[in-house]
Amino acid sequence: MAKLKDRLVDPAGWTDLVMGNWAAARAMIDSGTRVVTTFPGSPTPEIAAALELVPGPARTFYFEYSTNEKVALEVAAGASLNGHLSAVFFKSVGLNVASDSMIQLPLMQLIGGMIVLLGDDPGANSSQNEQDNRWFSRMSYMPMFEPATPQETYDMYKEAVALSRRLAMPVAFRMTTHVCHARELVTVGAADPAPADWTPRFDAANGPYVPITKTVFPLKRRALEKLEAVREVAESTPSNAVLAPNGGAPWNGKRLGVVGAALPAMAALEVIGASARPVEILKLGLSHPLPRRRIAEFLAAHDEVLVLEELDPVMETEIKAIAWDAGLETAIRTRTCREQLMGELGPRRVLALLAETWPDAFDPPAALATPAAPAPPRLPQMCPGCGHRSAFHAIQAALEASSITVADIGCHSLGFQPPYEVGQVLFSMGHAISTGSGMAIRNPSRKVVTFIGDSTLLHAGLPGVINAAVHDHDVVLVVLDNGTTAMTGHQPRFGSGEVGPKIPFKPLFEALGVKFLREVDAYEQAKLTALVKEAMAHPGFAVVIARHPCMLKFTRDSRRKNPGFRMPPIKLDQALCDKRHVCAAEFACPSFVRAEDGTITVHADLCIGDGSCAQTCPVKALVRQRPGGAS
Ligand code: SF4
Ligand code: SF4
Repeated sequence: MAKLKDRLVDPAGWTDLVMGNWAAARAMIDSGTRVVTTFPGSPTPEIAAALELVPGPARTFYFEYSTNEKVALEVAAGASLNGHLSAVFFKSVGLNVASDSMIQLPLMQLIGGMIVLLGDDPGANSSQNEQDNRWFSRMSYMPMFEPATPQETYDMYKEAVALSRRLAMPVAFRMTTHVCHARELVTVGAADPAPADWTPRFDAANGPYVPITKTVFPLKRRALEKLEAVREVAESTPSNAVLAPNGGAPWNGKRLGVVGAALPAMAALEVIGASARPVEILKLGLSHPLPRRRIAEFLAAHDEVLVLEELDPVMETEIKAIAWDAGLETAIRTRTCREQLMGELGPRRVLALLAETWPDAFDPPAALATPAAPAPPRLPQMCPGCGHRSAFHAIQAALEASSITVADIGCHSLGFQPPYEVGQVLFSMGHAISTGSGMAIRNPSRKVVTFIGDSTLLHAGLPGVINAAVHDHDVVLVVLDNGTTAMTGHQPRFGSGEVGPKIPFKPLFEALGVKFLREVDAYEQAKLTALVKEAMAHPGFAVVIARHPCMLKFTRDSRRKNPGFRMPPIKLDQALCDKRHVCAAEFACPSFVRAEDGTITVHADLCIGDGSCAQTCPVKALVRQRPGGAS
């Protein structure tokens, strides 16, 4: 069997077991997409990973990691204005960053076509909230597809491209975490045989492209007309279909139906299929704008219809309006409690909802057996040897009990947990410096110390830095620079030298007029403590750059180059140990293992041998093992 990376560019069609994100990547290639952009974020980073596997000569597209989601969206939009089919993808909350420009795009003639692929995250598996981006499609007049499986991802993506090109408008493609990561046998068609044509086709006559008061209404009118054209497509597309796994006969004298999209619709199909109950399902793939006539017909054909959707009651509100406008008396059943507005709706929860709605037709799911010995809860934590741990250990020693600490998005946000407990506030990418600045206003008694990673600094942190520098806010910023975008899987970070030229941070801060500016290796704990104390004593904006490479990446890269690479692990010398176990209590590397008798040892397989813990032991009992096991 061919390797998946070969599959990706195989010009012939194939059937193989692939995840939803891979199906999306192949669909981009097959549709003739010329420009693809992203800012990494779960649940979509595997799309980028797949596209990056395509070797240079076989690349029919330009791909870039952009500085942030807004930039990524604008680059893709610019390409489409020039006549090239483009795609941008990012995680759910990335849309908040991109929204300022995204809201304008459906007003414009995007002549090349453009797909905005959203990785929504019901259940907040890897996001700071579980926002429902279906609202954005309504707010911006952008059509939306919602595939439920990897196969649908492939098929609907191509349909979305055709629609986008025909109407010269962006189309939103909403994949939830489950769909991104699900795997199934996917059949793909032949790749686009057309050679890449890079002729720039921008023509201002296709505009107007400048929204001023005079043009706003014509632009909005055109966007609304396009949306009505899409509604007609939604009325007839096979992506919106009635499924009847057990026929549509009445059950106890009532005709029952379900309307849903994406995972809830697939879960309903599975549960209803297995139940032998004759409940019909109107499954929507092109879910915005809703096909009004089709929904009205479906409602009219049933006595009771349950609206199944994750998160907010978006479809519910619109379907109730359709029923009202059509004068229908169908009982529209919905979720009934707050808890049901949260999290993913997989088969088990869907069965519970069906049983709650129609107790004469469905039994609630059996209670899950409680495991005899439940696994102890495990909080996410920084890797062994992580420079952030070393930095937080050092910074803790500089902080006062009254200090306020504000963290940003990235691996360092895990520092809010014991024993570091650093980073008491966290909103969004790039917020820390500005939020910290606000907390510092007229606040001479409680020093504010903020943190940001290098990737986030360039993503959305710089405007906050400029603001703090210009107003000389009395806030300390510690830049935790690990040289990569670690938390989402080590995508290349801007300015690290992996993409384009290096962007050194020190001259950047100097150019902004930052008066207090220091640099240190995050492993130099005593020096870092002293610098942060100095920064806290400085009246006004002060910046400390604490640098150390991501050790997970460093170890992996070193082993790629030299499979035998291994730094000798650290050992806790029990003869020297004074049993206060300061290392475990205050440094808490996951390599430390506590035995039942309270003894601490260092797990040789987990320890990467960086030695950053050794500084924490007051009696120097953490010592490096020499080859052969001797200390
Ligand atoms: S991935 Fe890198 S930066 Fe993130 S916790 Fe692990 S070592 Fe630290
Ligand atoms: S125990 Fe090992 S991995 Fe952990 S900090 Fe010490 S040297 Fe690094």
